[in-house]
Amino acid sequence: MSFVKHPRFKRGGSPIPWGISLRRRRIEMTAMYFEYYTVSDVQCVVLQINPTSAFALKAFGVQLPIPNFSLSLRPFNKSTMQFEHIIGQQEVKERLITSYKGGRLAHTQLFLGPEGSGALPLAIAFAQFVNCKQPTETDSCGVCPSCKKFQKLAHPDLHFYFPTTTTDAVKKDPKSELMLTEWRTYLSKNQGYATQNSWYDFLGVGNKQGTIYVRDAADIIGKMTLKAYEANFKVIVVWMVEKLHESASNKLLKTLEEPPDNTLILLVAERFELLLPTVRSRAQLVKVPKLTEPDVLQWLTGQDVDSAMAQSIAHQANGNLNAAIDMQGSADEAQSNFILLRQWLRLCFKPGNFVPLHQFNQEMAKLGRERQKSFLKCALESVHNSLSINNGNIQWVKSAGEELTFAQNFAPYINKANHLEIYKMINQAIYHIERNAHAGILFTDLSFQLVDLMDAGRKYVNSTR
Ligand SMILES: [Zn+2]
Repeated sequence: MSFVKHPRFKRGGSPIPWGISLRRRRIEMTAMYFEYYTVSDVQCVVLQINPTSAFALKAFGVQLPIPNFSLSLRPFNKSTMQFEHIIGQQEVKERLITSYKGGRLAHTQLFLGPEGSGALPLAIAFAQFVNCKQPTETDSCGVCPSCKKFQKLAHPDLHFYFPTTTTDAVKKDPKSELMLTEWRTYLSKNQGYATQNSWYDFLGVGNKQGTIYVRDAADIIGKMTLKAYEANFKVIVVWMVEKLHESASNKLLKTLEEPPDNTLILLVAERFELLLPTVRSRAQLVKVPKLTEPDVLQWLTGQDVDSAMAQSIAHQANGNLNAAIDMQGSADEAQSNFILLRQWLRLCFKPGNFVPLHQFNQEMAKLGRERQKSFLKCALESVHNSLSINNGNIQWVKSAGEELTFAQNFAPYINKANHLEIYKMINQAIYHIERNAHAGILFTDLSFQLVDLMDAGRKYVNSTR
């Protein structure tokens, strides 16, 4: 498969290389489908498929089981944490660059910014900048050997410390160095916009909270005694300093006070009041304000979010990019649930030959469990909406636009003859998915039951005419 160049697919001013053969893989994620492609082992892109239009599909020759999708492309798996890729924060960037050029570089700095402000990517961009072999006036070059290693988050002089806890893989004595692979993947995925919750989710540790342990402090001190391999500055990034265990911070005091030459310790935190005073007093403060609403809006617009939705999300996000990303994700999910549900109901209403329905079941089975449940919950809500409409209580229906029109057209067929059975059937399916039922069998069974139930609903409509 090869790509056709399309001017729409650009981001951050750096076009993705086109016309290269791609190795194709499919993974399950929270949105409908993400397909991601490795290009010559160097750059990866992800196709985020939004169920809005089908026009781009043909251009790409991508076969999808479900029609009416559009594609948007964005760079993936390569962290682009240069200053130019970081949203907003112009003043902070300028201050950092000026301090470096003016030779007033503090060796221990505290990047303090609320969740979703970009304090961590700013710290990483700064580390890349001071180590770049040929920086411009305003940014690192992005192409020198040092920058390339930074972009893989794998420069030998770049060290990360962050909260950890026991996981399936690390059953005791957790510490940052044991989870570096996970950390790099996580950071690349989020372009550095890390949050505690999403990090713990990524590790799959449920409600457990992480700590930066005294073991990590010992590792940091160990790193200090080594000479930098190749960088101008050896960089230690400590994310979520709030989670530094007291014993760890005691161990680090002397290091924070007086790091060795050519070492930069970049502490990143969200809440000043939770930091130990001994740590606060030893670092130069770099205040990172929350993002502005126009900054968030501009970012959303660049993500192909439609303008009314983007404005609403930007407003609600209150300067927190991570909140905006979450809201965008749920909006995408709600939209794709609707598209799937409409297709499913149509297929079950007029099954004709069963091949499309069979294909539908197979595709549903490939989605993750959480997505399957979210789809079925959307189906339950739709049954509820139909009943409200039938009972003349349309004001209870939260849908609007084409969703509402669809609900109104379908409502008569969800009636006395079938609605209780449909409820029961979907609730049971959710119950079985939670208990690891075989998804292929489950959706096949569900679809055949629904074919019968829709038939009963239609007969009831005909009998009352
Ligand atoms: Zn460079």
